[in-house]
Amino acid sequence: MLIGCPKEVKNHEYRVGLTPESVGELSAHGHDIWVETGAGDGIDCGDDEFVQAGARIADCADEIFAECEMIVKVKEPQAEERAKLRPGQILYTYLHLAPDAEQTADLIGSGVTAIAYETVTGPSGSLPLLKPMSQVAGRMSIQAGANALEKAHGGRGVLLGGVPGVLPGKVVVIGGGVVGFNAAQMAVGLGADVTIFDRDPDVLERLAIHFESRAKTRLSNKANLIDAISEADLVVGAVLLPGAAAPKLVTRDMLGDMKPGAVLADIAIDQGGCFETSRPTTHSDPTFIVDGIVHYCVANMPGAVARTSTYALNNVTLPHALKIADLGWREALRRDAYLADGLNTHAGRVTYRAVADELGYDY
Ligand code: NAD
Repeated sequence: MLIGCPKEVKNHEYRVGLTPESVGELSAHGHDIWVETGAGDGIDCGDDEFVQAGARIADCADEIFAECEMIVKVKEPQAEERAKLRPGQILYTYLHLAPDAEQTADLIGSGVTAIAYETVTGPSGSLPLLKPMSQVAGRMSIQAGANALEKAHGGRGVLLGGVPGVLPGKVVVIGGGVVGFNAAQMAVGLGADVTIFDRDPDVLERLAIHFESRAKTRLSNKANLIDAISEADLVVGAVLLPGAAAPKLVTRDMLGDMKPGAVLADIAIDQGGCFETSRPTTHSDPTFIVDGIVHYCVANMPGAVARTSTYALNNVTLPHALKIADLGWREALRRDAYLADGLNTHAGRVTYRAVADELGYDY
């Protein structure tokens, strides 16, 4: 199969759909890969590395979209890219169609066969192609929070690990899923005093067994949250209600009970945020202060560590890319029901029920 990897064009997106190592694997399976010149610049992989791995370098995205049978990307295609998609072509990338009527209409209009990373499933309803980005965001949340706690950034001047003779900082993690677990791991590693909240007792039990005495677990309810937040130096918001906006677990009133200069890191900001006072921020201006409390609300955290994120993403996307390329998309999806859950549009129709329901298309 002829596979194309264009350079990402979305603002501040530095990741790339294929690493040179992934190109090498696809190439070893007998496929031809075209990579747009400069596609790997954001992860410090030059054209020469892709060539060594077996790719041909294309001068521009037009060539790739015109010729390649499958396009492998990271972010949803932007309007200029959507205009280049065509019937029979496979698009394999993150799409997030449900809140994006314009993109959905364009994909339908193009006739492309679009397989979305975020809806590919795994055993027991997991979303394995989303997981690595939650791992990255969870781990980053502690370094971002630690940074925001510094005096020069408006924080209360607390070092999370403390030093001998001085108590460590208190970290409260709300939501003990993938983001919360990874945040807790980093905070525990720094030597912080860590408490993880979840509303699911089974999740709390798993966390308690894993962390033993290195982190405390607590049931998420309003009284417990108020109590913990008033003592916290850093609060990480990591809740998810699948398919719904994040619940507002910390209200503006509650900020008054917090220590001045404490930090709220709202990782759930991509689902609307779990703190009432959150609003999305960017890597170039990541924090703002409300009632003396520093808020960090960057919606695309993994983009800041593009190299790690690209490699983490390729670890989970490549096996499916190989299947699609080796077998053709129909046979690959027929043999793998988890991958079949990724099909979002085909030949001018929406093929994913939640997207069809949300945007009023026939399914
Ligand atoms: P997850 O499903 O693995 O975990 C969510 C957890 O929240 C679950 O354990 C659930 O029981 C818990 N929860 C739900 N309601 C709760 C409540 N009221 N109190 C306490 N816990 C509650 O999800 P995840 O992969 O960890 O993702 C968490 C959030 O982070 C999502 O909104 C996701 O989109 C977001 N995220 C953001 C970025 C970013 O760059 N900002 C990157 C990756 C993920």
